[in-house]
Amino acid sequence: MTFRKVFEHPDVYQIILPMIQNSLPTVNVYLIHSKNSWLMVDAGPKTPDALEILSKDLKELKVDFDALEVFITHQHFDHWGLLKDLLPKGTSVHLSLYDYDLSGESANGKLEDLYQKRMKQEGVPKEEREAYTYVHRYYRLADKKDFKLVNAHPGDELQVGDESFKIVSASGHTPDHLVLYHKRSGMYFCGDQVLVGINPSIDLSFDGLDLMGNNLKRLKSLLDKELILMPGHGEVMHSPHERIQALYEHHFTRTQDFYKRIKEHPYASGYDLIRQNKWSIEDSWDKVFFVKRSLIIRQGFSYLNHLLEKNMIETIENGEQMRYKIS
Ligand SMILES: [Zn+2]
Ligand SMILES: [Zn+2]
Repeated sequence: MTFRKVFEHPDVYQIILPMIQNSLPTVNVYLIHSKNSWLMVDAGPKTPDALEILSKDLKELKVDFDALEVFITHQHFDHWGLLKDLLPKGTSVHLSLYDYDLSGESANGKLEDLYQKRMKQEGVPKEEREAYTYVHRYYRLADKKDFKLVNAHPGDELQVGDESFKIVSASGHTPDHLVLYHKRSGMYFCGDQVLVGINPSIDLSFDGLDLMGNNLKRLKSLLDKELILMPGHGEVMHSPHERIQALYEHHFTRTQDFYKRIKEHPYASGYDLIRQNKWSIEDSWDKVFFVKRSLIIRQGFSYLNHLLEKNMIETIENGEQMRYKIS
């Protein structure tokens, strides 16, 4: 048994699944039970171990598949991997169809092409660009033909037995990341919006930092009452105020660092600016694991996006290369 009851009335169970080759050791699935209805929040990574554990736990909890619906916070591989192996065809799955379409763009290579083009413009060397190609792709792990995909909108309510859960936007980590808020109890199923031990990455689409910042601000506004965060990874968080504030400050401090660096080194490439920044890495750039380097590069791009969007910096195109200077 790997589940534990983390809330009563309505009953909420947290199932902890192992991850492989990732900076986080585990990922959570939640099961909410009220009257005769069940809601599963997220669906783990597609690995044999995770499938075995989750199937066993659903059986032990006597989950009735006919009365089960699913809510997916966001479509990263570790949050919707087991749908197909686990659930009967036709199960209702509430998710963002916007992000779902993006997973299709990733599958046909469109997103990767854009990312490759951006890296080239920012001066990332060819060998590195090739190594980073597949690190962050979205995978389509459930399909319209297998499930009843229901487009989840912020503001809509999701009913589970007697209980009502509000769908809230938490965009930033993915373009249309969604979370669930249970007002009466303060439970907030936050996916990867707020985590402990890691600062969730920002997606490159639009101004991801702005989105993330605004949504964290909105989350802070809920803190006048007891808020219980049910994160996608790690332990349930009571009194998450400090963590939310720290996360909010972290990315904006980093962005300020970029701004200062551009001021000090006008006409530098994005690649040079990113490598010069103070990341929490001890080794020289070449010695950092390529997955981590790729993540750092993407975060750097999102900080640059934000500064561009706010007209604080501008680009100078020099042939195929982009350079930055203060506006
Ligand atoms: Zn994620
Ligand atoms: Zn995750």
